[in-house]
Amino acid sequence: MLDFTTVFVFSTAISVFVCIVCGLAWWNDATGLETRHWFIASLLQLTSGLLIILNDVIPLDIGGYIGAIISNAASGYLALGYRQLYGQDARARGILFVSFWTGTAVYLTKFLSGGHQDGIWLLYLGGSVNLIVAAQAVCRGLRTEKLRGENQRCRYGRFAAYILIGYASAYIIISPLAFFDPVQFVDGKPVSLWLQVTTIPLVLLNMAAYLVTLVVKLERATERQRHLASHDGLTGALNRKAFYDAWSHRAGQSGVLVVIDIDHFKSVNDSYGHHAGDDALKAFSEAVKQALPPGAVFGRVGGEEFALLLTSSDAREAENLLQDLRNVVTGMSVKARDDRAFSISFSAGYVGFDPSETDMDRIFAAADRALYAAKNGGRDRVVGIDPGSLLWRDVGHLRSGEGSPANPAQMSA
Ligand code: GH3
Ligand code: MG
Ligand code: MG
Repeated sequence: MLDFTTVFVFSTAISVFVCIVCGLAWWNDATGLETRHWFIASLLQLTSGLLIILNDVIPLDIGGYIGAIISNAASGYLALGYRQLYGQDARARGILFVSFWTGTAVYLTKFLSGGHQDGIWLLYLGGSVNLIVAAQAVCRGLRTEKLRGENQRCRYGRFAAYILIGYASAYIIISPLAFFDPVQFVDGKPVSLWLQVTTIPLVLLNMAAYLVTLVVKLERATERQRHLASHDGLTGALNRKAFYDAWSHRAGQSGVLVVIDIDHFKSVNDSYGHHAGDDALKAFSEAVKQALPPGAVFGRVGGEEFALLLTSSDAREAENLLQDLRNVVTGMSVKARDDRAFSISFSAGYVGFDPSETDMDRIFAAADRALYAAKNGGRDRVVGIDPGSLLWRDVGHLRSGEGSPANPAQMSA
């Protein structure tokens, strides 16, 4: 069995390694507050280890206790980093509160029992609290992201939660051992079988917790890059290239392509400012996302131009969808920075395509022609075109409840 000093020298060497890795992660991600919290956590963990191995200089019944409290605060900073990562309330107060009360409880236990109880079991119990807080932050973050449909490809978060729960459980299991079999000190060194047996697994769990944390961060950063490469940063819609890729991946399905352009958007910018214009684009995109049927693809193909690929819809369903959307969008109120409210409208052109269609340019050109017809027809309207017959279907005048677009108006192409 390894002696106490060897075990703690080993543990501190690992803490130095973890600290360097967390420091590098922070260095590379200077704007990320979570990496700063994790670096602070690793520094605290290292300090805690140093206080314990320097037991020749600082007596263990002082340094060991302070070290355990600092290690507890380190778990708190680990939790804080996770809260920051998942956009939750990340204030240090609650975390340091746990460490403070753990320390106070240990001191009171020792004092009130006249030294009979060493309070080490409380250190283990307190140690589990911040780890449970960290695991809870991860689980809550993953649940929220799942509900929002974000970061579907991030799998290591769950793994991190398991490790944190395992680590906290280890502390909880050890606590009664510390209670029923208090650590004896001989020549200032602890003599305890359970302490010797459990320390190395705890060191390894600690290392695993930090490493999986950095893997989670890396995975999310990669996923974010992937998302940014295919999505528009302002509206969250697919960018032009990704939308075109979606067309080529539609794998022999029929459907409807829609091109949408916001009406008189230049005057929105001129009257209410560019920020208000951006807010209107975001509000419009949110309205589209809410209205989309399953499997539909939504892209921003130009400044205030968007496109929809509706592979599970026919022309009639597309018309209904666009009319509903038109009602929602024209009813929306967008607020400018100076609190003035305004509304927007859009014009849309759509075209049906069959499974054999391969020429995307042709279909886009047809949808564009329908869009121009909608603009020429007075805007705030939807026009459909059948590319074969060049029969225009102008349904712009129809609002929901006013009848169905069953009688297509003939217009020249
Ligand atoms: P129409 O009804 O004929 O489409 O008129 P319009 O004013 O919408 O069309 P035009 O092409 O003249 O102007 C488009 C405007 O969209 C000009 C440009 O400043 C604005 N725009 C494009 N991208 C953005 C953006 O990301 N944010 C903001 N705020 N404005 C944008
Ligand atoms: Mg335009
Ligand atoms: Mg426009």
